[in-house]
Amino acid sequence: MNTYRIGPIRPPSEAQSLLLQVTCGCTWNKCKFCNLYRHTKFRTYTIDSIKEDIDCMAAYAEKAEKHRRADGTWDIAAINAELAAMGEEEQNCYYLVAMWLMGGGKSVFLQDGNTLALSGGKLTEVLRYLRQTFPQIERITSYGRAENLSRVSAEEFAELKEAGLDRIHSGYESGSDKVLAFVNKGVTAEQQIQAGQNIKAGGLELSVYFMPGLGGKTLSKDNALGMAKVVSQVNPDFVRVRTACIKPGTEIYEDYQQGRLILCSDDEKVKEIRLLITETKGVKTRLVSDHIVNLLQAVKGRLDTDKEKMLAVIDEYLQLPEEEKKLFQMARRTGRVVSLKEMWKISTEDKAAFLRLIRENIEDEWTEKMNALAGRYI
Ligand code: SF4
Repeated sequence: MNTYRIGPIRPPSEAQSLLLQVTCGCTWNKCKFCNLYRHTKFRTYTIDSIKEDIDCMAAYAEKAEKHRRADGTWDIAAINAELAAMGEEEQNCYYLVAMWLMGGGKSVFLQDGNTLALSGGKLTEVLRYLRQTFPQIERITSYGRAENLSRVSAEEFAELKEAGLDRIHSGYESGSDKVLAFVNKGVTAEQQIQAGQNIKAGGLELSVYFMPGLGGKTLSKDNALGMAKVVSQVNPDFVRVRTACIKPGTEIYEDYQQGRLILCSDDEKVKEIRLLITETKGVKTRLVSDHIVNLLQAVKGRLDTDKEKMLAVIDEYLQLPEEEKKLFQMARRTGRVVSLKEMWKISTEDKAAFLRLIRENIEDEWTEKMNALAGRYI
């Protein structure tokens, strides 16, 4: 069978989505913390080739559907037998479509980093063809770069909505112009606000991302206050927390090595989230913590009704004695626990080893260690 293109990433919330690649790479490719598409030249695909991919997905879907029983269950053994007879690329394509159907077949995510770079007319045609081919789809989402999005009017977003686009994910990362300039994000807070307001006015859902710790110690407060200001003015549907990890091989890591960035400790990053919660006003945005890099996964809820609940989780952690906080950081960063409530799960041996490490490491070394451990997850 033919195969279709599959891009490298999707947001965790799109784990159940079928992935359709309509562009390749990122139009900007210059954020200091991101190497994802650094060696990929940005390009858009033609309408015909995207439609061919959709047709190819439909052929795999037809093949898989033959193994859906009348009671809705699936003959997995038959699908596995077909997979075993395929080459690797075909296997990937068939597996993804079959899994998508088994998960309900309701959502699609358009890849790669900046789908909105595709001209509005082209994207509209893709959306219509996709909906027509798979009428059961309930949600289509995509990544978009705020700078590009700020140049799309509310009317144009409404057209995309009408054609079938439901949600845009945008990596705002910070709402502070100082932090945005420092990481070379190529966008200003004003453009983020403009983009967000147009998206919402066009009737689309918006999910923005926030990276606590991205500006280091010096810009820690700015980072949180800037984001609170942007979120307050946009009222996005979601703000998703992605704690910054400064990784070797990125430009921002060079900044760190040369002293231009001082790493934030886990406590400082948690305090940034606290500040975002207290300073965001008048919005119904849902704060989501759906990534393992976040220390306190339980900090989630609506920014109008759940503030107290979220602050209670943060304060329970911040009020712990120093050694207990570090014990939790280590347990969390090494996958032993998810929340403070699970600390009983740490074995006596692990606890003794962690305490030894805590007592051996001075503050800066500890912060460096936690940054490196969290960075393994991205
Ligand atoms: S805009 Fe997004 S994908 Fe592009 S370089 Fe920046 S973080 Fe990476």
